Amino acid sequence: MKPGKTSRRAFLSAGLILPVAGASARLGFGATTTGMLTPAEAPFEDAPTTVAKLPMRTLGRTGLKVNPLGFGCGYTPDPSIIERAVDTGINFFDTARAYLQGNSERTLAAGLGARRKQVVLATKSLASDKANALKDLDTSLRELKTDFVDVWFYHDKAEPAKITDGMLEAQQVAKQQGKVRFSGISFHSNQQQMLAWMAKAGLFDVAMVAYNFSMDATMDQALEIAAKAGIGIVDMKTMAGGFRFQKPSSPLYSKLKQDGVHVSALRWALSRPNVHTTVPGICDMDQLDDAILAASQAISTTDEKTLAAHLELIKPLYCRMCNQCEGACQKGLPVADVLRYLTYADGYRQFAMGRESFQKLPAEHRAVRCGDCAECTVQCPHGVKVSDRMARAQELFA
Ligand code: SF4
Ligand code: SF4
Repeated sequence: MKPGKTSRRAFLSAGLILPVAGASARLGFGATTTGMLTPAEAPFEDAPTTVAKLPMRTLGRTGLKVNPLGFGCGYTPDPSIIERAVDTGINFFDTARAYLQGNSERTLAAGLGARRKQVVLATKSLASDKANALKDLDTSLRELKTDFVDVWFYHDKAEPAKITDGMLEAQQVAKQQGKVRFSGISFHSNQQQMLAWMAKAGLFDVAMVAYNFSMDATMDQALEIAAKAGIGIVDMKTMAGGFRFQKPSSPLYSKLKQDGVHVSALRWALSRPNVHTTVPGICDMDQLDDAILAASQAISTTDEKTLAAHLELIKPLYCRMCNQCEGACQKGLPVADVLRYLTYADGYRQFAMGRESFQKLPAEHRAVRCGDCAECTVQCPHGVKVSDRMARAQELFA
């Protein structure tokens, strides 16, 4: 399946200019004397070549060979997008029991069809005990129309204490029954502690982490330690909040349209030495084109400048989940979690996912209104306007 003309046009009208020598040497297609690619020269017809040219990486101790460009199915509404992704050579697909109100696994199964065994398939369970974890797994296998998953993650467990003995037993049982090949944990916050714990404990094979251009070198070091210990590293949240759906009046709007920020952001993730594969959330053919375009060329100084400028713009909005403000809210709110739920709505246009997550907070947290605080005790060193953003989350979700 090939992308429509509109997506190619979008790139071209966005003024996409690739360095002539770099583009032609890497992809084997010509460029105009101005460096502007014409439709006939655009890389989308060569998508399988583009993705397949990325050297495969080994997913830590699992030994699984994965393309560094993977596919996050969390918001993918249409199997045909997945079908085309498989055509291109993408071979790592990540979903979860909880995504799309339980419909994501079914969508992924429809997109993979008979090619399920050509790919590395990962799903997740939010369960926190053995019985519910195993029940979730059986549901996942049924929905995914498969006998086994390659990687089974515990979903959003940001503290070692959240991994109970029963959950470890469930992983063992699932492996013994042949339903799961490798085990993993996904988390968005407290990441450095979780990676260090995983590296030492040796109980899990793969970590799914939130890692993008907004993060500092301490995260690089934590990933290096984990990767050296044999943990496979899957990178999510590569777009630092996305923010694709801004109003034209927003200063972000023109930046996102003109600068190819999402392409640059994914190039950054693909360039990281301790990332084995990435799972950018892809929900339409244009976003798949962005991912393929990102894979077509190594990160450049232009990409880096674009990302630096973009980071300045998203500073007041985007919480990078660094946890430096943990415990600072006088009302005990889990600030990083609430801001992540807001990002689902504001950044990824996944309002339902944001609200559902917010509604799972304890009642005393849901009842708090930041507007009632005389002064916010949370000072974000990265420039997030915490009380404004929290108030917006409460207005949208409570
Ligand atoms: S609000 Fe700021 S300090 Fe708190 S987790 Fe987010 S980025 Fe870190
Ligand atoms: S304004 Fe909100 S985030 Fe800040 S201290 Fe008050 S309740 Fe906590």
